[in-house]
This record gives sequence, C-alpha cells and structure tokens, in this order.
Amino acid sequence: ARRRRDGGVVVIGLGRFGCHLASSLTQLGHEVLAVDRNPDRVQKWSPYLDRVVQADSTEEGTLRQLGLADFGRVVVAIGASVEASVLTVLALAELGGPEIWARATSDQHARILESVGARHVIFPEAETGERVAHLIVSRMLDYIEFGDDFAIAKVRVPQSLVGRSLRDLGPIDRYGVMVVGAKLPGQPFRYAAPEMVLAPGSILIVEGSIGQVQAFAALA
Ligand code: ADP
Repeated sequence: ARRRRDGGVVVIGLGRFGCHLASSLTQLGHEVLAVDRNPDRVQKWSPYLDRVVQADSTEEGTLRQLGLADFGRVVVAIGASVEASVLTVLALAELGGPEIWARATSDQHARILESVGARHVIFPEAETGERVAHLIVSRMLDYIEFGDDFAIAKVRVPQSLVGRSLRDLGPIDRYGVMVVGAKLPGQPFRYAAPEMVLAPGSILIVEGSIGQVQAFAALA
C-alpha cells in the first residue's frame, strides 16, 4: 500500500507496546521506520512493517546514518530500561528534527525525559490501568478522560431509563451529562436525536465532568 509521507514516524523499541504502536500506525497509512537492537525482534516484525532496522538507539551517529533527522515524529517506546530510554531521547534531541514522544514508567522518568528533550510523555500502563478500572467496576464499555475535568464514556443504558426518550432526558439531562450518540439494538450508532426511545440493550455515548459521567455510569 502507498504510505502517506507527512514526515513518517519512527518507533524505537519493538516490545509489547512498541509493536502494537508500529502496526497501528502502519494500518493508519503512515510510513513507519522501526528500530530495535534485538535481532530476534527485528526478524519477527520485518514482514509486517515497512522498514525494521537493528540498531542501538542510544548512539547519535547511528541515528543520523539511518536518516532519522528527516522524519516528522519519533516515539521512544522503550519501557523497561530507563537508561536506554533517557539516552535515546538525549541522542534524538541532539540530532534535532523529529518531534519526540517518549514512554515513561514513573513520574521521575517522565521529568527526566522532558528535561532532556521529549515534547510529549505517555504512560501506557498507567493510562490503560486507569481506564480498565472504570470498565470493570461500572457499566462503561469505554472511557476517556480529558484534562480539565471532562470525560466521555460509552455506557449501557441504565435499566431505570429504558423506555424513555432522549427528549425526556433533556440535552443536558438531570444527571448533568450530555448524550451525544446512541446505538439502539441492531442499529448503528447515530447522533442523539430527541425522539430516540431507549430500548433495553441500547448503548449511549455521554460526555460531561468526570464526576457526572461516572455517576451516570453507576445508575442502575
Ligand atoms: P514492553 O513493556 O513494551 O515490552 P520493553 O521495555 O520490555 O517494553 O521492550 C522495549 C524494546 O526496546 C525491546 O524490544 C528492546 O530490545 C528494545 N530496546 C531496548 N534498548 C534499546 C536500545 N538501546 N536500542 C534499540 N532498542 C532497544
């Protein structure tokens, strides 16, 4: 498949997180260059990604030779070795060029990554753990928290609201959340419309403050 150029994305570290990241980016149509120092990893992922090279990402000269300076973005997906992750970000910052995204495993790790040149720091384990906690203890099927106390959730319709129309709930209903989309059983998701009547098994997309969304998801 022809890839969008837009600078391309480099993924460094094909561990459990990096390999999913690299294959998702590839599926989204982006040109991906993946780097790992472990030859087994390189061999394993070569058939599935555009370009996979074996290299030690802590060496600035190697990164330069690979042409990394020409890429738009680079993600340092190394997690277990804080040293390798920090030295890689440092080498990338000295190289100049791509915008640096880096994975952190603790707050201290994140602060070091930022101080050596990471523009964005991500916490995949912490973020997934938090999201999955919500999915397990409530009727939420999916949940995303944004900054500034705002969240969106995909929620099974509470039993107490079955048979009501979205008009009854109001645009900002008495729970304070706004229903933005709904899926009635056997139908696709649609924008919320006032005349939609909530059948058992309906699924709602609701947004609001974190407290309101969680309270709505806790309704019986
Ligand atoms: P995960 O939790 O996602 O599995 P890991 O930290 O265990 O993450 O794996 C990170 C990957 O990064 C491994 O495949 C490892 O070989 C690779 N890696 C670690 N250090 C370097 C380095 N200096 N240069 C290139 N790749 C590295």
